[in-house]
Amino acid sequence: MGTAEPAWLSFLGGAGTVTGSKYLLTVGERRILIDSGLFQGEKQLREQNWAEFGIPPGSISDVLLTHAHMDHVGYLPRLVRGGFAGRVWATAPSIRLAEIVLRDSAFLNERDAEHAAKRGYSKHHPPLPLYTTADVEATLPLFRAVGYHEPLDLGDGIVARYYPAGHILGSASIHVTTPSTNVVFSGDVGRHTHPVLRPREVPPGAVTVLIESTYGDREHPDPEIAHEPFADLIRRTVRRGGSVLVPAFAVDRTEILLKTLSEMQAEGRIPQLPVFVNSPMALAALAVYRDPAYRDELRPDLDPAHFIDLPALREIRSTEESVRLNHPRHPCIVIAASGMATGGRVLHHLKHMLPDHRHSVVLVGYQGEGTRGRSLVDGATQLKMFGRYVPVRAEVLQDDEFSVHGDRSDLLDWLAELSPGPRTVYTVHGTPEVSRAFGAHITERIGVPALVPTLGETVRLD
Ligand SMILES: [Zn+2]
Repeated sequence: MGTAEPAWLSFLGGAGTVTGSKYLLTVGERRILIDSGLFQGEKQLREQNWAEFGIPPGSISDVLLTHAHMDHVGYLPRLVRGGFAGRVWATAPSIRLAEIVLRDSAFLNERDAEHAAKRGYSKHHPPLPLYTTADVEATLPLFRAVGYHEPLDLGDGIVARYYPAGHILGSASIHVTTPSTNVVFSGDVGRHTHPVLRPREVPPGAVTVLIESTYGDREHPDPEIAHEPFADLIRRTVRRGGSVLVPAFAVDRTEILLKTLSEMQAEGRIPQLPVFVNSPMALAALAVYRDPAYRDELRPDLDPAHFIDLPALREIRSTEESVRLNHPRHPCIVIAASGMATGGRVLHHLKHMLPDHRHSVVLVGYQGEGTRGRSLVDGATQLKMFGRYVPVRAEVLQDDEFSVHGDRSDLLDWLAELSPGPRTVYTVHGTPEVSRAFGAHITERIGVPALVPTLGETVRLD
C-alpha cells in the first residue's frame, strides 16, 4: 500500500444553520454521508431541499445516521429519489423512529401539496411534494442496524463506531477512522442528564471533531423548582377557563413533557386535567420508548411502564376527534405536533385557540428562525397559517428547561473529555453568530482552533 488516501469533508448542511445536517466524507472513490437532514425554517433554507444535490446521490455508498430527528434524517427519501441506493446505518431504535418520522413527513408533504393546489398558494404549478410515501417505502429497506461501541467495517479501511449521545432514543455520536485520519461527528449532544434516557457517553477523541452548537452561546436555567413558570401558567390558564396548547416535537419531547406533567400533578402543583396527545406520530414514538427491547437505553431508575402517570391522558387518533379539540369546552392540555408549528395538527389548534385570550401556548423546544414557533416567542401579534393571518391573543410562554441539547457548559465538557484532544474543531448545527461565539469559547477553554465552516465548503482532514 502506498500513501494512504487523504480524507475530505464537505459541509452540505448544518453549517451556519441549525438544520439540514449533511456531512460528506470522501476517501478516494468512497463517498459516505453523515446524516441526511432536511433544511427547515426560513424559506430560502427550505428551498435548498429542492436544489440539485451537487454530487450524484447514486455515488454515495453509505449514510451514517446520528439520530432520527427530521433535521438529520428528513432528506433521505429525496436522496433515494435522486438515485441513492446504498446502505443507511443507524441504531435499532433510530430505525424505528426514522420510519415513523419519514412516513409522517411524506404524508404531510403530499397533503400540503394537495391543500396548496386547492387554494392556489404554492409557487410550484402544480404544487409538488418534496417526496412521497413511495419514496419512503423505497428508503426503508436500505436501513441496517448498528449497535453502540461495535466496529462497523465499511470497507476500504474505513471503520465507524457509535456512542450514546443522550439526546433522543437511539441518538449517537459517531467516530470514523479512515486510512489516513480520524474524525468525530458529535451529532446532537444531550445534557449531562436526560429525564428519560441514560446519560450520554463521550467517544474516543479524534484529529478532527465536528460539534453541534445549537445552544453554544448560553447556559440553560438551573431553577430551584423545575418548570415552575410552566406550572404557574397552567394554573393561571385554568383559572380563566382556558386551555393550554403545547406544540411538541413528536419524538422525545412528548415523552419528557408527559413525564413532567405527571410529576407536577403528583406533587399537586397543577390541577388534575385531561391531557390530550393529538399526534399519531408522537403516540407511535411513545410506543418505541416504552418497548422493553430498548430498556437499556432508558435511565436505570426509570420504570418504562409507569414513568408517565396521567390518569386523564387521552390519545387522539382520528381527524374527527382532533377537530373536536379545536374548541376545548373545559380546561385541558393539548399536545400536538409539530414542535415549531411548521405543519401538522397543531396548526388547526393554533388557528382556533390563538385568538382567544383565555388560552395559552407553551413552546418547549428550539424554535428555528422563520418558523411560526419563533414568531410566537418573538411576540408576533399576527401569525400566518393556511394563507391567512390569525390574531395572537393567547398567552405565550417558552420553557427552555425541556431542551435535550447541551448548553455551552455541557458541550465544552463533552469536548474537554475527548481523549486524545482534537487538533481542529468545527462548530456546526448553529446560526453563524452562535457557532462563532461558541468557537471562541472553545479556543479559550481548550486551546484548540475552532472554525465555523460555510455551507458547501470542503476541507482536507489530515
Ligand atoms: Zn436532534
